[in-house]
Amino acid sequence: MREWTSRTFVNREYQREFLNKYRKQNTSCFACHMACFAYLKVPDAGESQAHCLNYYYLPAATKYYGHTLERDQAVSDSIVLANRLGLDTTNLSGMVKFLNDLYQAGRIAPKPELPVDKVGSRQFIQKLLSAMATRTGIGNLLSDGAPRAADHIKDGWESCSKYFPAHGAAEHEPLRNYPGIALLWALDSRDPVVDHHQYVHLGIKYQQAYPEPYKLASEHAKRIAAEVFGSEKAIDHSSFEYKPEAVLHAQNRSMVINLLVLCDWIYPIVQSQMTKDRSGDTSFESQLLSAVTGYHLNEEELSHVGERIWNLARAIMILEGRSRERDCLHESFFRERDGERAIPKQDFEQAKTKYYQLRGWDEQKGWPTVRKLTELGLSDVADKLQETVALKDS
Ligand code: SF4
Repeated sequence: MREWTSRTFVNREYQREFLNKYRKQNTSCFACHMACFAYLKVPDAGESQAHCLNYYYLPAATKYYGHTLERDQAVSDSIVLANRLGLDTTNLSGMVKFLNDLYQAGRIAPKPELPVDKVGSRQFIQKLLSAMATRTGIGNLLSDGAPRAADHIKDGWESCSKYFPAHGAAEHEPLRNYPGIALLWALDSRDPVVDHHQYVHLGIKYQQAYPEPYKLASEHAKRIAAEVFGSEKAIDHSSFEYKPEAVLHAQNRSMVINLLVLCDWIYPIVQSQMTKDRSGDTSFESQLLSAVTGYHLNEEELSHVGERIWNLARAIMILEGRSRERDCLHESFFRERDGERAIPKQDFEQAKTKYYQLRGWDEQKGWPTVRKLTELGLSDVADKLQETVALKDS
């Protein structure tokens, strides 16, 4: 887990080197025994704890400085300052690439408050984070996030859509190659992968050359997908077939882990490095709940609770204007770009229809029906929604 969340995968040897050079110890959220954060100390560049996308500036800084101490200080600045100023490194990851693209395309020019001709340098990252936190100059625009900034920059979305495919958050895994992830993105209100790591890891890990112990043989991945999601097609990335079913299952379970305040990096335990056949134990949340509270809900009952929460969240989104049309990705994802394949629009829309049907929702609008909400014990939510929108009865 520690190496995993430090992004020290194969083909990223320089990330491993950085980590091993500066990691003083492992550290964790509160008392979590996994301790998946690294506590880093880089000379003359402060101290921080980091994992995953906290290392967002490493590629740009490596390109700018090569493998030097200055590169490492720039990376440390990017983490320490973001933590100090309360800025989101997942979004910054896309923001840095977005700004670099805009500069390379001649759409923005270097300014003293933001030297975009020096992306990768200490100077650039310090000025960017400071300008965003204090809303100075262009930082005022950028502090609302790259998607809102792109609305104000000529042809800004040509670059922005590469990194921000839907609903204003940064891309986490390549949507074009993974229909299930594309569907998750379209149906959520933010980057969905932060709540669905287990589905994503199961579906992707076996396809990529991850090092031991993270490597997952395809026969294990397919068997686990069939056991947990109902079909091995859940992780077959050649089509949208069975993705609505898998996504629905993953969404309900993601609500459960949030409800129980469990970490998405671990739960549900879909797979394990401790078992011979790599099977996890997806009933573990139920067992924990019983052990801690004495309140007994089996897996199916917990998933039902997750379904109720998902419907409630959808109701809130509907009040904010969400509908089938807005369960979307940026149009550019349905076209080929830079040699990357297009997502087949018709298949995508058909998958959405199937998803709404499975949810018991109105497939034209993408809204829960009165009958569905009543069935879930949420008739008061239906009444509230009916004050604003006309729900179908069934
Ligand atoms: S709670 Fe999750 S993110 Fe935090 S240390 Fe544990 S495994 Fe890592």
